[in-house]
Formats: sequence, structure tokens, C-alpha cells
Amino acid sequence: MTTPLETLIARAIDLGLRSSLATPRAAALLASKNPSPEAADIIRDSNQLTADYKACLKEIEVTTPQQYASLRSQIVDQVRRAMKKQPGMRKWRCKVCNFLYDERIGLPRRNIPPTTSFQDLPPDWECPDCDVGKEQFVLDQG
Ligand SMILES: [Zn+2]
Repeated sequence: MTTPLETLIARAIDLGLRSSLATPRAAALLASKNPSPEAADIIRDSNQLTADYKACLKEIEVTTPQQYASLRSQIVDQVRRAMKKQPGMRKWRCKVCNFLYDERIGLPRRNIPPTTSFQDLPPDWECPDCDVGKEQFVLDQG
């Protein structure tokens, strides 16, 4: 049986590392400094995660701020560990618009989970920002 905490951690990993680690406040700050569709995604994911998080807290009866802080650090820790277990993940850059596809992060807003390799994207996959095909992407060495 999956516990609410395990469900929450799986969800955090699904949403991707950056989103999972950003509090809604941090996400909003990021967006104000660097407005982009990506920043908007992070805010949305972060709000979603916070809602899931609160639901989980109710179920497992976390009440004190100490318990809350300890739970959050536990989650962050597990998400980090899960993402680190993926060596050899690469980044691919769109030659047309410079969109960067990071295999480690995937593209949660298009239902591509973290750690999906570029090769494993469907053949008809298109750049989310400019709609060109996979053949317009090059390996990013940076
Ligand atoms: Zn593009």
C-alpha cells in the first residue's frame, strides 16, 4: 500500500526537480525576475505541489511547524536523491529558438516525465516553443 507521503514524493518527482524544490514564493520571485513560459510552469507546478502537500499533511496528521519542516526537508532530500540517480542525462538545444530540452527534467507540462531521453521522445515530437521537429535539435555541450 502506498502511504500519502510516498504518493506526495512520487508527485514531487513527477513535477521535476526545479518545480519540486521551489516554494510558491520562490517561484513567484523567479518569474518576476525572468518572465517566461517556463517560469509560469514552475509556479503552476509549485502551487499544485503545495496543494498536494497540504492534503498529505492532513492525512498524516502533521500539526507542529517542526513536524512540517522536517517533512519538507525529507521530501526535498528524496526528490534530490531520485534525480541524482540518473547519470548521463543530456540536454538538447533547438536550433531555431534555443529551447533547451533537459532529459533529467523532461517536460512535465507536456506529459513527458523526468529522465526521458531525447531518443525516447515520440518521432513526431515538436519543440514546445516553436513547433519544429526533433531533427532541428542538437546536443547541448554547455
Ligand atoms: Zn524551438
